[in-house]
Amino acid sequence: MWEYRTLLRDRRPARQLVIQLTERCNARCPQCGMNVTNSFERATVPLPQAMDIVEQAAARGFTALSFTGGEPLLYLSAVTALAQRARDLGIPHVRTGTNGFLFRGHDRPDFEHRVHTIAASLAGAGISTFWISIDSADPSTHERIRGMDGVWEGIRAALPIFHEHGLYPAANVGLTRMVGTTPLAAADPGALREQARAAFRDVFAAIVELGFTMSGLCYPMSLPSEETERLAAYRATSPSSIVRFSPAEKAAIYEALLEVIPSVRPTLRLFTPRCNLDVLRRENLAAARDHRRVRATLTAYPCRGGVDFFFIAAADGLVYPCGYRGDEPLGAIDQIDFDDLGEPFCTACEWECFRDPSELLGPLFDLRSRPSALLGAHRPDPRHLRYWFEDVRYALACDMFDARKPPDYRRLAGFARAADAPLRPSISVETRGAAVGRAVAAAHHPPSAGPTDLRMREVRERCATGR
Ligand code: SF4
Ligand code: SF4
Repeated sequence: MWEYRTLLRDRRPARQLVIQLTERCNARCPQCGMNVTNSFERATVPLPQAMDIVEQAAARGFTALSFTGGEPLLYLSAVTALAQRARDLGIPHVRTGTNGFLFRGHDRPDFEHRVHTIAASLAGAGISTFWISIDSADPSTHERIRGMDGVWEGIRAALPIFHEHGLYPAANVGLTRMVGTTPLAAADPGALREQARAAFRDVFAAIVELGFTMSGLCYPMSLPSEETERLAAYRATSPSSIVRFSPAEKAAIYEALLEVIPSVRPTLRLFTPRCNLDVLRRENLAAARDHRRVRATLTAYPCRGGVDFFFIAAADGLVYPCGYRGDEPLGAIDQIDFDDLGEPFCTACEWECFRDPSELLGPLFDLRSRPSALLGAHRPDPRHLRYWFEDVRYALACDMFDARKPPDYRRLAGFARAADAPLRPSISVETRGAAVGRAVAAAHHPPSAGPTDLRMREVRERCATGR
């Protein structure tokens, strides 16, 4: 979910820093080790220390900062102060997000005023990406996972207020077994792929119906071993079965996503690049065949974690190559020579924050520094090249996913192609969950044909006609 325009600087991608402000959270998500039911001593970076990190990051040429958690908006005023400071220091891209807890109680008299205040403070601080987590196409499943009654309708009520303030939040969809309206549980990879296609159609339709104009996906996190999970600096992994997939299952799910994305792109600005899904699909296919994780060296651009992208853990305030290589602390941010950290090599996990931009930017980096690599054996697959080329064109049409800009549906319409995405509903709309049923009904009988209704209708029609 990075803005890509400034990721290329000189002859290498520009520097990104994910700052974990807190390990505290008030949600119950079973797919995440930081959920409120897990008992461990939770750290929060004190504001003066966080401010110092931002200043050090600016001095060291970082151009994108992400404030994450836990739940960052437990510290809303700190987040806005840090974002403002980052913008004042010339850092162009600042992102943060929420599990949506502040949007509960949409029927209370103070709701509008409260959300206007939140939206104004985030927009005023120059936030360029603001994500709101969504776990399922089914509202009750989402609320059950988060442990937050009423948050779904609260998000619906909050989004227009954010848009009024010129900030277009992105739905951050967690890819778990519960993402659709029935659990992803088929034993056969072919059947699972069908289930996943329906689930993705449903969740994207539900997101559009809620009022989102932008979205990204959190891939299911699993590290190579329990030992590496234990060592992770970022406690976002979980043993829960809803986020545990075998390599064969993941390959089927990524394949389904590859197929569904073209039908979504004209309607919802979707960060997720197909070129990386293609790589992850191949990696998992190879792993399934070999019964072990293997590096797909012919296709994957190594992750730039530890070279250009970094993570600061709330627990100790130190810089790590990423949230998962917790046994490789690089030190305090002011002690590190960021120009001398070697070359990227790692493909050990599927963390989209680092893997998506690494794959998308890899060819651009090659183009500038070693063009022969592009013509040689490194990218022999025309289909993969096409994915990449379309991803780049799409990112441009989406204004690099700048959340301060509204969608330009006229430009997005050019992506309504599906030569490799024969979309047909695999289950009837009646069997899908309440949200999609309501959305479909609204598309049939719109109370007023506002932009969301029209977009929703487009999603549905594309799914029905396979376009
Ligand atoms: S996924 Fe986010 S909201 Fe859910 S428990 Fe983890 S940090 Fe909290
Ligand atoms: S692939 Fe990237 S995010 Fe994952 S462990 Fe390696 S460096 Fe870290």
